Amino acid sequence: MKTSLTWLLPAVLLAVPVQEPAPIRGFSAEGARAQRTWEARFQSIPSTDSLRSYLRTLAARPQHLGSPYGKTNAEWLVRTFASWGLDARIETFEVLFPTPKERLLEMVAPTRFVAKLREPPVPGDKSSTQTTEQLPTYNAYSIDGDVTGPLVFVNYGVPADYEELARRGISVKGAIVIAKYGGSWRGIKPKVAAEHGAIGCLIYSDPADDGYGQGDVYPKGPYRPSDGVQRGSVADMPLYPGDPGTPGVGAVPGTRALPLDQTETLTKIPVLPISYGDALPLLSALDGDVVPPSWRGGLPITYKTGPGAAQVRLKLAFDWKRVPLYNVMVTIPGTDAAGEWVLRGNHRDGWVNGAEDPLSGLIAEMEELRAFSVLLKEGWKPRRTIVYAAWDGEEQGLLGSTEYVETHREELVAKAVMYLNTDSNGRGFLGMGGSHLLERFINDVARDVTDPETGLSVWKRLQLGTIAEGGRARAEARGRPDLRISALGSGSDFTPFLQHAGIASLNLGFGGEGGDGIYHSIYDNFEHFTRFNDTNFVYGRALAQTVGIAVMRMAGATLLPYQFGAMADTYGGYVDELKTLLGARRDQAIERNRQLDEGVFRATNDPRSPRRAPERADVPPHLNFAPLDNAVTALRAAAERYDGAAGTARLDQIRAEANGLLIRVERALASPTGLPRRPWYRHLIYAPGFYTGYGVKTMPGAREAIEQGYWAEADREIGRISERLMAAAELIDQARATLAR
Ligand SMILES: [Zn+2]
Repeated sequence: MKTSLTWLLPAVLLAVPVQEPAPIRGFSAEGARAQRTWEARFQSIPSTDSLRSYLRTLAARPQHLGSPYGKTNAEWLVRTFASWGLDARIETFEVLFPTPKERLLEMVAPTRFVAKLREPPVPGDKSSTQTTEQLPTYNAYSIDGDVTGPLVFVNYGVPADYEELARRGISVKGAIVIAKYGGSWRGIKPKVAAEHGAIGCLIYSDPADDGYGQGDVYPKGPYRPSDGVQRGSVADMPLYPGDPGTPGVGAVPGTRALPLDQTETLTKIPVLPISYGDALPLLSALDGDVVPPSWRGGLPITYKTGPGAAQVRLKLAFDWKRVPLYNVMVTIPGTDAAGEWVLRGNHRDGWVNGAEDPLSGLIAEMEELRAFSVLLKEGWKPRRTIVYAAWDGEEQGLLGSTEYVETHREELVAKAVMYLNTDSNGRGFLGMGGSHLLERFINDVARDVTDPETGLSVWKRLQLGTIAEGGRARAEARGRPDLRISALGSGSDFTPFLQHAGIASLNLGFGGEGGDGIYHSIYDNFEHFTRFNDTNFVYGRALAQTVGIAVMRMAGATLLPYQFGAMADTYGGYVDELKTLLGARRDQAIERNRQLDEGVFRATNDPRSPRRAPERADVPPHLNFAPLDNAVTALRAAAERYDGAAGTARLDQIRAEANGLLIRVERALASPTGLPRRPWYRHLIYAPGFYTGYGVKTMPGAREAIEQGYWAEADREIGRISERLMAAAELIDQARATLAR
């Protein structure tokens, strides 16, 4: 029995003030009190039973872009949100989506072997038996082709791997390459292969990476079985994402798309993903050099590079149709700052059933909306307009989110204060990436959500995890008030918001405990998720709580809770990295030329194969970093002044003038002319790498120019980045000036 003695206490004792709730950045003391009450109510609502039931419904059948069940899900989401009293609708686009008509992979010499190219159902997993609705195993936006040639193993198929082959005198010209998944985003592999003269590309999942080398395979364990295949897009996303046929403009129904032969993001050579079951006979047939130790995988063979007697034929033909795409959009109108939007999204399409990717994130988003609908009925009134999205066509290359941003760019540029993205969710540590002016904000949110396994805050758990990692991260996690958030490259729907429209963005998700090997396969389904992932949905609930609090704070603050100290600090670090990169390139070049001059240079000690004569290296000039140093100094000073002023400003009402200026700070980091050779990417601080894919390149114009040895371009880009940083510093100063009023 629970006893309460409060009725015995004299009134005077009861009047002792309860502990003042902790302040919240951007709110007055009184505003923070009300906000904390609403947040506590919000956090009590998300339920693991609801999450489980949404997942059961959404993952019941294959639900990729253009599929019947994908449309059923979109309509079900709208009906469900409407039944909660929310304003929900479908926004339709029309996009290029090729699906296979013919797939043939065979070895024609020295022995004959025909690849299976099929994922079989497994016992105890009903979802895996839905074979008529499953998309075949393929890479979207590979071109059609029928090629035959010798086979060459290229490790992960990144530029450094081709340098290693060249040192051994091995060329892939006229060959079909076979690359392992991993080491880069998959679309980089056929791109680099084609640049080196290959005529076809196979990508397989090596068991060392996500199969039996990691643990028991499905259905015994969570890892990739021998016939499991990773589907995925291979469009040249670092050039531009979205519908390949309509770069830069929204693919609203009826928009004229580029003809296929002018569509730049399709691959240059045919490419097909395969299982390690299908890869084994091909790799076993290779001769040539034994690969370097770091190239070896987990198959029971001696890995060799080829080429040799092994001749392979790859034949692919696709149905190049345009299909309708259904984004589900929900709007909760704001009150006294309705013209400012807080956006939040997760994609809803999978490659097949997609329980983990993406539905584990989508179900959290649904619970956030259900909890908001309860709060709205109880009188909660967000100041800003909240826009929720369930994107379609993410898997093909961020199609739904990109077409939305391209269609509504002007309005978004005027109104958006934040885009918050999630994708898949798992168990463990909160991953935080995003714009650095949101670093303090999301750290504060993470301090107020409880980790379901440890009972600590999700922030504390992440801090302890980072300390356990050791190295520089350990010292920072101990010494810095906030945990660093990572810079965003690509790989999910934040890209058009952040990198095309210059909207401050975050990407969140739990993970790090346990792994699996079902990514983009038929085995990513309800059965697998509830056996091996967030089995009791407590991390789905924690994600809904974390994101919901972030959205409520951003929507409710009188002064936008941006903070610029972390931004200036982080960007200063990027400038240091650029200097180090240039210095390292110079030292390497000088050393190489010295060895050549002295005749001591040997490409290799192996005398057997023909070697290329080493070329003299181009020694990098000195670049003038002074403009960047000055800009970072100006940014640091403006940040310090602003962060101090924001801490003492009166916040009992909306600070519209300051907010209007603050919104423009992230926008100022984007340039209307974009990055060299890829103008769709406008943000000058964050971009996916041209040769890494998802991997981020910070200050990409300068960094990639230094990496590629484009010295005049590096110089120009240093100037452009400096200009943008100065513009941001100026806006921050203007915003500070309004706070004094
Ligand atoms: Zn995803």
